[in-house]
Amino acid sequence: MKPTIPLICVALGVEVKCEVFDYVIAGAGTCGLVLANRLSEDPNIKVAVIEPGDDVRNNPNVTDVGAFLRALGTEIDWQYTTTPQPGAGNKSIPFHAGKAIGGTSTINGKPCSLSSLQIWLIVYLGMTYIRGDKAEFDVWESLGNDGWNWNTLYPYFKQVEQFSPPTAAQQVAGASFEAEFHGTDGLLKTGFPFRLLNGSFYELVQQSWENLGYLLNPDVNSGETRGFDVWPQTLDRDANVREDAARAYYYPIEQRPNLKIIKGVVTKLTWANSIIDDKLSTDGVEYLNPAGQTIFISAAKEVLLSAGSLRSPLILERSGVGNPSILKEHGIETRINLPGVGEHLQEQPNVVLEYTSNVNLTGTIPYATFATAQDIFGERTFAVAEATRANLSEWAQKVSDTNNRAIDAHQLEEIFRIQHDLIFRANITVAETLTSASGNILLSAFWLLLPFSRGSVHLKSTKTNYPAIDPEYFLIDFDLAIQTEIGRLSQELWYTSPIKDVVVDYLAPGDEVLPRNATDAQWATFIASTMSPNHHLIGSASMMSRKLGGVVDPRFKVYGTSNVRVVDASVLPMQISGHLTATLYAISERAANFIKSSYLENSENMRAYQLFMCLSGLGLLYMTGAVLLRAPPQANMYKRYYADMTTGDAEWILCLKICQIQQNSKFDDGVKYDACVGQCKGTIENDWEIVNKKYRILRGYEKSFPSRDEVDQALVIES
Ligand SMILES: Cc1cc2nc3c(=O)[nH]c(=O)nc-3n(C[C@H](O)[C@H](O)[C@H](O)COP(=O)(O)OP(=O)(O)OC[C@H]3O[C@@H](n4cnc5c(N)ncnc54)[C@H](O)[C@@H]3O)c2cc1C
Repeated sequence: MKPTIPLICVALGVEVKCEVFDYVIAGAGTCGLVLANRLSEDPNIKVAVIEPGDDVRNNPNVTDVGAFLRALGTEIDWQYTTTPQPGAGNKSIPFHAGKAIGGTSTINGKPCSLSSLQIWLIVYLGMTYIRGDKAEFDVWESLGNDGWNWNTLYPYFKQVEQFSPPTAAQQVAGASFEAEFHGTDGLLKTGFPFRLLNGSFYELVQQSWENLGYLLNPDVNSGETRGFDVWPQTLDRDANVREDAARAYYYPIEQRPNLKIIKGVVTKLTWANSIIDDKLSTDGVEYLNPAGQTIFISAAKEVLLSAGSLRSPLILERSGVGNPSILKEHGIETRINLPGVGEHLQEQPNVVLEYTSNVNLTGTIPYATFATAQDIFGERTFAVAEATRANLSEWAQKVSDTNNRAIDAHQLEEIFRIQHDLIFRANITVAETLTSASGNILLSAFWLLLPFSRGSVHLKSTKTNYPAIDPEYFLIDFDLAIQTEIGRLSQELWYTSPIKDVVVDYLAPGDEVLPRNATDAQWATFIASTMSPNHHLIGSASMMSRKLGGVVDPRFKVYGTSNVRVVDASVLPMQISGHLTATLYAISERAANFIKSSYLENSENMRAYQLFMCLSGLGLLYMTGAVLLRAPPQANMYKRYYADMTTGDAEWILCLKICQIQQNSKFDDGVKYDACVGQCKGTIENDWEIVNKKYRILRGYEKSFPSRDEVDQALVIES
């Protein structure tokens, strides 16, 4: 690795850091740290991460698995507020997000708006690790993302995990699992807490759900969520601490000299002077340091935005990427017309019921039940499906109109049809309800999983960098219908044997407000007045075709750019019946693979060139873009060699690489090449491990273009 030179060149009031990084990541959060870890595995690659938050490894509000909700409202919470929400009685609602090394994974858990605040502190729900239903991932392909489905993501789910199987005592307390669905060699520790409640309460709850028709799901992470389960968490069970992204992906490798976390807030991307393949390319970012100075830091290869669903779209907007009419309001010149930026925001509303009990319960009670549309609408399901299908175009128009027609109604209708099929044909789960307790308080917290309502997040003003957050809860009335039905089901549990025997009183909202036979109108009023965010925000830079209003392509690249990616919750195109982090860690691992395999231009040349420019006192020219920074000497041979490697799936690309290396880059030998590609197809389906291993062996030969014999020999020796 080259030594770093901490020299600052001053140009146009913007300080230029003359330390050249290959990758600059905005945000050291859940996804950003996965990228930072994986990309810096290669000591020749220099990675900078810009993060406004601090190191929180010794913050007990973070580490204590029983006190996580204490972090909300502190300095490690951005403490946002939504715009007034018509679906929530026109209130602006507090919205939490993590501001720390580790991002929101340092504060997450399920905050329930209970009637008395002190109960918050003793309800140990959270850090939920649940993936979702298979069909929800398969549908990503229909949204324009070739190669994205449950089967391609599943290896990454397992790769992420270092699962601790439950102890015998935990199994007695209800923790169940099926080993085949879990990874044990990953960096992220998952498992069940030692404080898992023991005793008869579990049996009462499980039996009652069974009596309502919800059988025990032996492993909620199998790709089928329906039924009742005790969910695993992201925690280091043996150390009894929260397993956040920093603990899993950063602290163990923080000494790497080629990885640096810099304190600051990224404001915008800077664009290089040259256009590559009709696409804008970035050469770095500007960020505000804690003293309020604007600093430029250069990225030789790529800029990766991982600032979360609420902030990555804002960085794009500040950089001139987004909806021209919104950009114009802020006086920002449009560089890429991409109206999907900040749109398609999808969030779930969380509502709580409370009862008192004749038993005093201590310990963690993480019980969840997932229900399908068939479960909650019963015999009415077919009629509901027909009626709602007929409404899809009207809903699409409503969402389009509400969001300033940023996304065309026809595009939304296409998305809604896919979502409708998921719900009524693929029969995925549409609602989740948690059953828990603390002391003598019993509670249900419930929410719909796949809202049709879509909101937005945009730049509030260029002065603050803060987001205007508009989730548009219950914009579409069908969302309220599902929320009501899952509420009724949650309420019914407490009238069901055998759990009903421990219920003493209906504490909140109580019989007067919401009796057992409450009308739809009573439910609507109750939900609007008490709902809080579920904090599962996604979609604001959706991975979808550009035609449907997507922002990034299937390889996370922002449309119209050659080297900007978004890797965080904002790329998920549609909600999942899970909790986000399980999926986010998996997609980030996959993104890191894509990035590693797709960028093979000569970074040494680029880095040296940029360093030279800076040190030559040409920082001013650098900033004004008057020099062709993006013209690193590039070996044609390399270009040709990797010519077709930037399309298709990561596995596919790796296999092609193997073929090309084996062919010694002589593509004229068509027959052998085709045979090798044919083998790739078979191998990938059958044994991805073999492909990966071969690739690792062959990597060492990339630069020297070994002969076919040398490669074959190496494979024989090493395998
Ligand atoms: C209260 C709460 C409870 C939750 N409970 C659960 C749960 O139990 N299970 C679950 O799976 N999920 C849960 N979630 C959701 C989940 O934690 C988040 O969706 C996920 O952590 C988001 O990851 P991310 O990488 O997209 O963003 P983040 O982890 O939020 O990372 C973004 C990072 O970028 C930084 N940043 C912001 N702006 C900038 C900028 N301009 N420049 C540079 N850096 C910037 C932030 O400080 C942050 O560190 C919960 C969320 C909340 C808020």
